[in-house]
Amino acid sequence: MATQRILDFLATRRPSGPCLVVDLDVVRDNFHAFRKALPESKIYYAVKANPAPEILRLLASLGSSFDTASVAEIEMALDAGAPAERISYGNTIKKERDVARAYELGIRLFAVDCVEEVEKVARAAPGSRVFCRVLTDGEGAEWPLSRKFGCVPAMAVDVLRHAALLGLDAYGVSFHVGSQQTDLDAWDRALTDARQVFATLADEGIVLRMVNMGGGFPTRYLKDVPAAQAYGEAIFGALSKHFGNRIPETIIEPGRGMVGNAGVIKSEVVLISKKADNDNVRWVYLDIGKFGGLAETMDEAIRYPIVTGRDADAKAPCVLAGPTCDSADVMYEKTPYPLPLSLTIGDEVLIEGTGAYTTTYSAVAFNGFEPLRSYVI
Ligand SMILES: *Cc1c(COP(=O)(O)O)cnc(C)c1O
Repeated sequence: MATQRILDFLATRRPSGPCLVVDLDVVRDNFHAFRKALPESKIYYAVKANPAPEILRLLASLGSSFDTASVAEIEMALDAGAPAERISYGNTIKKERDVARAYELGIRLFAVDCVEEVEKVARAAPGSRVFCRVLTDGEGAEWPLSRKFGCVPAMAVDVLRHAALLGLDAYGVSFHVGSQQTDLDAWDRALTDARQVFATLADEGIVLRMVNMGGGFPTRYLKDVPAAQAYGEAIFGALSKHFGNRIPETIIEPGRGMVGNAGVIKSEVVLISKKADNDNVRWVYLDIGKFGGLAETMDEAIRYPIVTGRDADAKAPCVLAGPTCDSADVMYEKTPYPLPLSLTIGDEVLIEGTGAYTTTYSAVAFNGFEPLRSYVI
């Protein structure tokens, strides 16, 4: 939501062009809400959601740990003041030389999802802790994380056994239930699989100690989502059900849920037009689109709340598109977006809930539109 601090910033600074404004107070509140909801779990913020140095520094100072996807992200977390013991290399797809570099930087916690990756880690980061990611169905998530990551539980057993054989510390199991997950039972289903891997390996004398329950915690877009507290209760219930009174160490890796609602994008209406005189559908073109930071509108997956200064007026559905010369740069067409009939070229609009997965998707000046500017306040 646009907090008063964000509105004041926009009113006084009047930045020109589209930009993201992130309110650190909201990030701080989100961190405390996660900590309160799951007091026994360590929080590893997923850096890819928004790596702004101010956000990383705040979270490092609050005691957060960090889930990183690359050497560059590891360096950002270190620069923000996080010690190496609080950083995991959570990408299951890594070059061996990047594993070696991470090891040099002090990283000792790595994700794997196959024997081939275990071999790399064993060579380049000997003795490190590894956790194996298991597949989930992603059901209930608005941004499912497909079959690209993880393996079936039976294979996770082989992967972790192999890790132990190569002298690595077979530490645990991870999963990700899919991003913007609104089904509280999703963690229960994934924990069933995790528990199975624990039990099978325990029979062989390999005692796992950690479950990494990933991200997926939603942020509020147009529909209400359960609060962190409800997630905490559902997850704690599922942990007790599957592990009884021997609940292992747990990690959560919120990305979207940590920063999504902390950011607002300011944008401007560039053009409003129709395709024929007898066509009622207005096309509204903004100065930001899929290539300028709104990549998650792909397949109309994420529907952002859009606030205008004319929201008291009557609304009608519009096709909403971006400013580039690429016909894929249309955000909402299958399900048109209701906007005020009085909306006018030059009007400012606020796109809310855009603190996560926006700036990082806008790293190249496609069509000469500069990458999304960001202000962290
Ligand atoms: C992207 C990612 C996350 C963050 O997911 P959210 O749905 O944004 O919370 C957490 N863990 C891993 C391994 C990821 O790749």
